[in-house]
Amino acid sequence: MTTCTCLSMECREAHSKPFTLPPDKKCPVCGYSNTLRAIATVHYLVRDVNGNLKGYNGNYRPACGVALKDINNATGDIRAANCPECLKAHPPEPVLATEESPTLPPPDEN
Ligand SMILES: [Zn+2]
Ligand SMILES: [Zn+2]
Repeated sequence: MTTCTCLSMECREAHSKPFTLPPDKKCPVCGYSNTLRAIATVHYLVRDVNGNLKGYNGNYRPACGVALKDINNATGDIRAANCPECLKAHPPEPVLATEESPTLPPPDEN
């Protein structure tokens, strides 16, 4: 799986979050493939006594549970992380003023 962001106009308006895709990449939202850009996955580090990454205040591990040897980038700053699984495990603080965004409808097949 590759972490991608989609640069099509439709997607910029529909969603701005990175998503993971299999290698035969096609944007799940707009269906284009030449608008996708692979981006480096940055995992979010959480404190865990059993984590095997030594940090300032203890041990850390990636929130999504991926093995440290398999990752290249990680951060303790949730705003800088983009791993979808890490963000699912530790979503950033919700912005209180925004309403719950509805689920995206499936792309129009016509
Ligand atoms: Zn797209
Ligand atoms: Zn992760």
